Amino acid sequence: MIPVKITIATTNKGKLREIEKIFLGSDIQLQTLADIGWEKEIVEDGSTFAENAMIKAREVYAGLNSPVIAEDSGLVVDKLNGAPGIFSARYAGEKAGDKANNKKLLEEIKNIPDPVEAAFVCSAVYFDGETILVSEGRIDGRLVRTPRGENGFGYDPLFLPNGYDKTTAELSPEIKNSISHRGQAMKKLRKMILREE
Ligand code: IMP
Repeated sequence: MIPVKITIATTNKGKLREIEKIFLGSDIQLQTLADIGWEKEIVEDGSTFAENAMIKAREVYAGLNSPVIAEDSGLVVDKLNGAPGIFSARYAGEKAGDKANNKKLLEEIKNIPDPVEAAFVCSAVYFDGETILVSEGRIDGRLVRTPRGENGFGYDPLFLPNGYDKTTAELSPEIKNSISHRGQAMKKLRKMILREE
């Protein structure tokens, strides 16, 4: 059955804004963990983005008993052996914010010559107690040495997608969403949930 309401298992407003745009025009109503007053911390102890997305989806489903979309995403830098990877949100420490994480990343790549290739990757999962749907998205690019732009969140000011001369923090939200790892993964998931193809 096509669900009417889906809870997005995130409290990240940046992510939510992006996901909402993908579901515009459908009858699905989205709500977030903040909307339902969810306070329980979810321990993301998987070893891949997909495992972490699954952990979040199952745990929120267990608490709500209604359909959930969860995603896990991050920045992968080959020359840093895949770091920050699944630790993207807490690269500079458990409670680190975007600024501290970006600072640490710049420090880590200081001695790596250009181009410092990087990719944003995203695994998204839909779970309604019976059906599990999984999708992936990826955007390749490289890192700049000085933060640029005010849009987006996380590592956006440092990420220059291939084929663009603007960081994802300089691109408009519409353009970022149309090319981003999360945009791709969510569009695929939307199609699967709504059986649009
Ligand atoms: P999660 O909330 O555990 O999935 O952590 C995701 C982290 O990866 C964020 O806190 C950001 O640091 C980074 N990240 C994921 N997607 C993006 C993006 O679209 N732009 C910038 N940073 C991102």
